Amino acid sequence: MSPDLLIVGAGLAGLALAGDAVRAGMDVQVLDKSRGVSGRASTRRVALDDGREARLDHGARFFTARQERTRALAEEGVQGGWLRVWTRSVSEWRDGTVTTPPPEHPRYVPPAGMSALGRHLARGLSVTTGAEVTSLERRAGGWRVHTRDGASWEAPRLVLNLPGPQVAPLLDDLVGDVPGLAEAAREVGRVRYDPYWATGAVLERDVEAGWLALRLFGHPVLEWIAREHTKREPGHPPALMLHATPDWTRAHLERRPEEVRPELLEAARDVLGDFTPLHAFAHRWRHATPTERAPGPAHWDPALRIGWCGDGHTPDPHGPRVEAALLSGWALARRVLGQGEDERERASLPPRTPEQEPNL
Ligand SMILES: Cc1cc2nc3c(=O)[nH]c(=O)nc-3n(C[C@H](O)[C@H](O)[C@H](O)COP(=O)(O)OP(=O)(O)OC[C@H]3O[C@@H](n4cnc5c(N)ncnc54)[C@H](O)[C@@H]3O)c2cc1C
Repeated sequence: MSPDLLIVGAGLAGLALAGDAVRAGMDVQVLDKSRGVSGRASTRRVALDDGREARLDHGARFFTARQERTRALAEEGVQGGWLRVWTRSVSEWRDGTVTTPPPEHPRYVPPAGMSALGRHLARGLSVTTGAEVTSLERRAGGWRVHTRDGASWEAPRLVLNLPGPQVAPLLDDLVGDVPGLAEAAREVGRVRYDPYWATGAVLERDVEAGWLALRLFGHPVLEWIAREHTKREPGHPPALMLHATPDWTRAHLERRPEEVRPELLEAARDVLGDFTPLHAFAHRWRHATPTERAPGPAHWDPALRIGWCGDGHTPDPHGPRVEAALLSGWALARRVLGQGEDERERASLPPRTPEQEPNL
């Protein structure tokens, strides 16, 4: 039997939407091309030869909770023991000098890694992983999606929780045949993302540092260095997560991970002094954080019963991030469930140009 709602993408926005739709009584099926849920809120597990395991957040570094519902989720997580406040202050590096701003808003991380947030949201949901959607088809009364492995799924309602540049090509084949889709497709097609190269390293010994993480300003290669073990339970092997700047990433986008990895480690040595990795990896995010977002919290066409959500939308005035993805998913749930658009959302829609908010 077909579900009531098909969601492509088990990122945080899609999972937030799915949870609300299921609680309202809908039969929901989520598809994701990856092996697990949580999308860019992602954790790499590294098994060491001595039997220890390390967990490194190579996507989202932490998350903030500035809105009522995200605060409630964070409080529930802290009380439930799967989430904690990692820090209230991220140290800053400028020209070799490190400063630590006074404590401000909390930055949350699950001690098990950022992907635990997605796993928490996915509890009780029907999610099929390893299902990469390659095309969409309009059917009488609904939608059919086709996956790379030759399977297909149908539902009367369809939501795409993908970065805008991945939504647009799926819609391209449809716009000629489905009147009313063209303008929305053009809008989501204008969403743009910065790319990031990320490198993780599990270390023989911790580096000498009095900080948990560094946001680097003016460094030619690196934007972020975190001592990942400071997010984890005691006894976790010392580990570093490095994120290159978007500019450096763009200049090196098509290189291979094994070429990029030593260069980011060397750049980190310039900042931290020498260290010895027991294991290192590199990961490229082509669509990491939006630089150009679509206005409004999400898109929903009630006539065609198709929509999209995610951090490429503008559900609140803060930057594109985990919290924006969650708010976008919950906002779209209200639309899909026919509860209309929240007046506060409509009133506070900021312009398309994103506010740069380095201090997430
Ligand atoms: C390097 C990096 C650092 C970041 N740092 C922070 C931070 O510190 N704080 C913060 O709040 N945010 C941060 N972010 C942003 C944050 O990760 C995102 O805003 C958020 O996770 C986006 O969620 P989403 O649901 O919108 O999209 P996604 O997480 O991208 O979800 C999309 C899902 O769709 C799946 N998918 C894609 N194509 C297909 C297909 N064809 N078929 C099926 N499935 C498909 C993907 O596998 C993915 O699971 C960072 C992101 C990156 C990459």
